[in-house]
Amino acid sequence: MSRLDNFISRMTAQRDILNQICPEVAKMEGLVFELGLGNGRTFHHLRERLPGRRIVVFDREVGAHASSIPDAENLVLGDIRETARRFIGIDAALVHADIGTGYEDRDAVTATWLPDLIAGMLRVGGFAVSGTPLDHPQLQRLPAPTSEPADRYFLCKRV
Ligand code: SAM
Repeated sequence: MSRLDNFISRMTAQRDILNQICPEVAKMEGLVFELGLGNGRTFHHLRERLPGRRIVVFDREVGAHASSIPDAENLVLGDIRETARRFIGIDAALVHADIGTGYEDRDAVTATWLPDLIAGMLRVGGFAVSGTPLDHPQLQRLPAPTSEPADRYFLCKRV
């Protein structure tokens, strides 16, 4: 499979999962966290799907399209591994993490801290959606509501 095909498949799975869980998230109390603003496409999508919900967004720096930049009070700049720690215990409804790199060695390092961080930020019953696997005893993997292969994007529920 070409990298282009793989990318499209990943983005299709990402959108399918977000579309499926946003109505559930809308019924739940709690903040939404976007780990990795990037171009701002998924932030823009979440903002459309969850009108009125506070979405707090993280990245090292702002590189997003002008239409997709969060307000200053909802933007946290710096290394997520450090900056998101202060939101542990906040009982979030959704954490979406799109910080995979496509490099196995780098993503393996992320896997040593990201699952624990996300489990700490979510309320029980809250959702984690991620481009990288989240192996953690408090994050129960759910079947992804997509026809794309199962390893493209990951959905978990905080138990
Ligand atoms: N979902 C975004 C979109 O739809 O446009 C794309 C996100 S992009 C793939 C990943 C982003 O995560 C990059 O902007 C990168 O700077 C950021 N990122 C990755 N690891 C990070 C870390 N440890 N701390 C802060 N930002 C990080």
